[in-house]
Amino acid sequence: MPETFLIVGCGVFGLSTALELAKQGHKVTALDLYPIPSKWSAANDLNKIIRTEYSDKFYAQLAVEALKSWENDPLYQDVYTKSGRITLSPSSIENQHRLRFEDQGFENLKELGVDVSDIKHLTTGEEIGLMFPGFKDNELGSINARYNPNTGYGHASKSLIKVYEESKRLGVQFIFGSQGHVKEIINQNSIKVESGEVYTVDKILISAGASTGFLINLQNQIKATGLFVTHIQLTSEEYEKYKSIPIFFSAELGYFFPPDPINHQLKIAMTFSDARNSIQDPFDSSNRQSLPRYREEYQNDTFPKDGEYHVKLLLKKLLPELQNHDLIKSKVCWISDTTDSNFLIDKVPGLENVFVACGDSGHGYKFLPNIGKYISGIIQGTEKDQVLKDKWAWRSTNDWSKQLSSRAKRPQIDLNNSIIDWYIEK
Ligand SMILES: Cc1cc2nc3c(=O)[nH]c(=O)nc-3n(C[C@H](O)[C@H](O)[C@H](O)COP(=O)(O)OP(=O)(O)OC[C@H]3O[C@@H](n4cnc5c(N)ncnc54)[C@H](O)[C@@H]3O)c2cc1C
Repeated sequence: MPETFLIVGCGVFGLSTALELAKQGHKVTALDLYPIPSKWSAANDLNKIIRTEYSDKFYAQLAVEALKSWENDPLYQDVYTKSGRITLSPSSIENQHRLRFEDQGFENLKELGVDVSDIKHLTTGEEIGLMFPGFKDNELGSINARYNPNTGYGHASKSLIKVYEESKRLGVQFIFGSQGHVKEIINQNSIKVESGEVYTVDKILISAGASTGFLINLQNQIKATGLFVTHIQLTSEEYEKYKSIPIFFSAELGYFFPPDPINHQLKIAMTFSDARNSIQDPFDSSNRQSLPRYREEYQNDTFPKDGEYHVKLLLKKLLPELQNHDLIKSKVCWISDTTDSNFLIDKVPGLENVFVACGDSGHGYKFLPNIGKYISGIIQGTEKDQVLKDKWAWRSTNDWSKQLSSRAKRPQIDLNNSIIDWYIEK
């Protein structure tokens, strides 16, 4: 008998699972408070990096598998661009862990049998300028960088729509709005939505991204982290000049993408600081928890004004001609961090048929084509890979002082406890 499944939250993890379960012939209902791409999804964005370099070989392998789908599965062909990526390794002592991450990521590709002969080590900005005319005026000077041509980016919102449409075609029932806005888990088979309806099914997956902690007592395993993102608008002439640049990534300076082929906007992600929003834990009044806050309620949330300096510095170093463009569509974008950057995909203790898939730790998008296969295996009890299950298991101890990600080294602004001078767009 096919089982009935309810998926709460249609971002990367939820949609990928909905599609996989539908392919297996199951009856799936998927809920979200917004239509796809949801305003709350971390992946509701122009683009996201699809990389295979990981210091942990487990994720490297998973990313190599995902990249094959991005490149070859007809579903993703229009929403993947093989732009290549330059990664500038950090120079400062406090960011040496990132250098190790990048070096190990390269070694892991070799060990996995990936052809790395095209990956180039770069030592001067001049070399970058010669390879990519769009970067010819860069002011990088002497550097330690790598260029990997066999990688690129996903057109993020568009790819969510692709997976949504395919899931719908295969029979997934989607419900949005107040009937899709889950407010409460009633018991191991039922949830209640804002409009008052109760849905009862065999199995429930809560994949509500950074907002998962509003629905499940996550026992300090997750912190919502806000990342600052902005864009600049290029003219048609500028687009022609810069359309063939690769992604440029620096953990210290920030990173940006080639301009979008449709709207000619260039997306810039900042790394000078992140945000948290510490509020009372909905399940433990003695605890404070970082949970996201969104634009509907907080219209001013763009990025702290001093971030403008860092964006201009990044542009000045790489694309000096564009450094004085106005910043547009600036936003805080929420991810769900774990202490060790491993996802959290497991049964919820005490609720036999309720599962959670969150803890994306800012690197979940690239797995849109394949994460659903593993999530559905965990939900159905058919996943055999013990390494995977252990990595993503519900953790009883969480030492945040040992957080692994480079975000742990960055300043973090608590939106709920600070007076912030927000950047105001012209
Ligand atoms: C600025 C930024 C840059 C990033 N860059 C990259 C990158 O380059 N490469 C990469 O691989 N990853 C990247 N990521 C991470 C990636 O976006 C996330 O890993 C991914 O989106 C997580 O998927 P998710 O399904 O867990 O959550 P989300 O995509 O956030 O989706 C959660 C969904 O749950 C819904 N929801 C929430 N609460 C409820 C509720 N109560 N009822 C119903 N629905 C609900 C939301 O509306 C949303 O649709 C980036 C993230 C950010 C913020």
